[in-house]
Amino acid sequence: MELIKGEEVADSLKADISKEVRKLIDAGQRAPHLVAILVGNDGASHTYVGHKEKCCNECGFRSSVLKFDENISEEELLQEIEKLNNDNSVDGFIVQLPLPKHISEQKVTEAIDPKKDVDGFHPVNTGRMINGLPSYLPATPDGILELLKYYNIATAGKKCVVIGRSNIVGRPIANLLFQKGWDCTVTICHSRTANLKEEVAQADIIIAALGIAQFVTADMVKEGAVVIDVGITRIPSDKTKSGWKLLGDVKFDEVAPKCSYITPVPGGVGPMTIISLMKNTLKAAKKEIYG
Ligand code: NAD
Repeated sequence: MELIKGEEVADSLKADISKEVRKLIDAGQRAPHLVAILVGNDGASHTYVGHKEKCCNECGFRSSVLKFDENISEEELLQEIEKLNNDNSVDGFIVQLPLPKHISEQKVTEAIDPKKDVDGFHPVNTGRMINGLPSYLPATPDGILELLKYYNIATAGKKCVVIGRSNIVGRPIANLLFQKGWDCTVTICHSRTANLKEEVAQADIIIAALGIAQFVTADMVKEGAVVIDVGITRIPSDKTKSGWKLLGDVKFDEVAPKCSYITPVPGGVGPMTIISLMKNTLKAAKKEIYG
C-alpha cells in the first residue's frame, strides 16, 4: 500500500507555479492577481480565505480580499462583482461560500464573468468541462486528477466508482474521469443507489465524496483498489488541542491494507484544492482558456 501524500504533491505544484510567475514577471507582465470576496463573519470562511491569501503569497501572486457586512444586499454584491468583471487589474476572483440566506448563490455564481471564474463554478465553465473543452476546472476534482497524475496511477479502462453526486465534487470528477486521457468506466453512486456495496466492491478506483464519516469499510473494497477519500467530517475529540479531529469517508485503518494507493484525511485531497485555485488564476493571467 502506498500513501498518497497531498502536501508533497501540493508543494511540488506550488514550486512549478512560482517558477511560471517568475517567468511572467521577467517578461514584463505583472503578477497574477486573485481577489476573494468575503461576506459576513463565518469563521471557517475567514480561515479558508486566509489560507488562500497565504498560498497566493507563496506563489508570487498579488492577492486582495474584499470584505462585506453580512447585511449587504444581493444587488450591492452583484454590483461589486460587475466591478471586478470590468477591472483589468484583476485576473480572477472567487466569492467565498456560503453566502447569507438572502443572497442567491446561483445568481452570484452566474454573475461572475466566466473568464475570471477561477473556482470553475459558472455554468459556462462546467458546460465547457463536460464537453471536454478548455475550462477552469473546479478545485477538488482537479486536485484529485493531479494526485492520480503525480503517482502515475493507471486509469484507462479501469472501473471507477464515485460515491456522491454534488456539483462541486462527485458530478465533475465522474465526468472528468471518463473523458479522453483518463478513460475510466465510471459509475456514480448516491443516496438512492441500490446495492451500493456491490457497486463499490467492483471498483479499481473509489472516489468517496459523500460526507459521511468512515462510510467505506474494508468489505466494500477490492484487493488492490485505489481509494481517494474526499470526505471531511469534524468530530469532537479530547485528544487534540483544538478539541476536534477530522475524519474521512473511509475507515482508513481497515481499508488501507487492502489498497494499492490511498489518501489519508487530513493530508490527502485537502491540500490540493487550494493549488487548483492557484493553477486557474495563473491560467487566467496567461489568458490560456479564453484568449
Ligand atoms: P454534498 O453534501 O453536497 O453531497 C454529498 C453527496 O453524497 C450527495 O450527492 C448525496 O447523494 C451523496 N450521499 C449522501 N448520503 C449518501 C449515502 N448514504 N450513500 C451514497 N451517497 C450518499 O457534499 P460535497 O460538497 O460533495 O462534499 C462531500 C464531502 O467532501 C464532505 O465531507 C465535504 O466536507 C468534503 N469536501 C472535501 C473537500 C476537500 O478539499 N478535501 C472539498 C469539498 C468537499
